[in-house]
Amino acid sequence: MSDLMFPKTSGKKKRKKHTKSIMQPDRDKHCYLCMLLHDDYHEKIVEEHHVIPGTWGRQKSEELGLKVYLCVEHHRTGPEAVHRNIEMSRILQQKVQQTYEQTHSHAEWMQEIERNYDIKTI
Ligand SMILES: [Zn+2]
Ligand SMILES: [Zn+2]
Repeated sequence: MSDLMFPKTSGKKKRKKHTKSIMQPDRDKHCYLCMLLHDDYHEKIVEEHHVIPGTWGRQKSEELGLKVYLCVEHHRTGPEAVHRNIEMSRILQQKVQQTYEQTHSHAEWMQEIERNYDIKTI
């Protein structure tokens, strides 16, 4: 058993260099894409992925917590790996923006990231 049943309460909202993932604040051992795409909730060896690309994007991702945890296959090696499959990275970018905008305004997102990833298909 893990300590997932007893999440730590974190009331503080200080801006630190290392911000918790807004997607998986418990920093758990579940792969975000395994859960999203395959309903697979098994614990995995996961790697941290910064959702906004590029050097600047990585820093912003760290600052704002725009990070997810991915298994090795979904991160780097498999056909659905975000670093190999543009569709997968788009899904994550859209999800992270939607999550951010649940607690912030769209204007704040645009101010921080300067790019709209939440493009609705018509
Ligand atoms: Zn996975
Ligand atoms: Zn990555």
